[in-house]
Amino acid sequence: MGEQRQRRIGLLGGMSWQSSALYYSLINEGVAERLGGVHSADLVMVSVDFAEVEQVQAAGDWHRAGELLAREARALEAAGAELIVLCTNTMHIVAPAIEAAVSIPLLHLADVTARAIGVAGLVRVGLLGTRFTMQKAFYRERVESHGIEVLVPDFDDQAVVHRVIYEELVRGIVSEQSRAQYRQIIDRLVERGAQGVVLGCTEIELLIDEHHVEVPLFATTRLHAHAAVDWALGDSSRAAR
Ligand code: GLU
Repeated sequence: MGEQRQRRIGLLGGMSWQSSALYYSLINEGVAERLGGVHSADLVMVSVDFAEVEQVQAAGDWHRAGELLAREARALEAAGAELIVLCTNTMHIVAPAIEAAVSIPLLHLADVTARAIGVAGLVRVGLLGTRFTMQKAFYRERVESHGIEVLVPDFDDQAVVHRVIYEELVRGIVSEQSRAQYRQIIDRLVERGAQGVVLGCTEIELLIDEHHVEVPLFATTRLHAHAAVDWALGDSSRAAR
């Protein structure tokens, strides 16, 4: 059988490593499923120290964050990566700085997510993520540019969603109590008209899956990993902009 050349994926991870581990598994599983045998993904990864990222986030120093991740993206390109997959929704705040630093494309997570929502035929979704993702325009407006309305939780619910991400999920803690709180928050979004919910933080799918809610979920780690596999195997019509 003629061997299919894979394009090399560059994972920019560590934000947090809990979800980066999931990306690594999902991408390898996807390639094995598509190519069979003992095939696995051709990828390179840099995994940053999340403490440093969390500090610049808390300080609101997005310029520094952009410099930090641009440097790592250049390292991926130098290691032969042909695509950057930034393994976090939040840090897409600095996607323009990353894109400016390399000559290879960035597979933007908001576009991947919006396309999946469109394929499901939905026009109004709820968005859960860090407070940066829920409050700032960079993600919401990018999804909305695909003709989709995005609802975010009210202020108190946002605080709960954000706290659980930073105090539990990025540390690998999965609690029944937090799951119950997330389910209630999702119910409130559905009451306000959300037809589905974007798990717009790459750790949330460690806590919530389709068994926990009655509306369609858009699990961004899974969607992003699958889109990366499509791209690596040459099906870029499904993966890239
Ligand atoms: N992984 C998370 C996200 O998808 C949050 C961690 C981070 O701030 O990067 O937004």
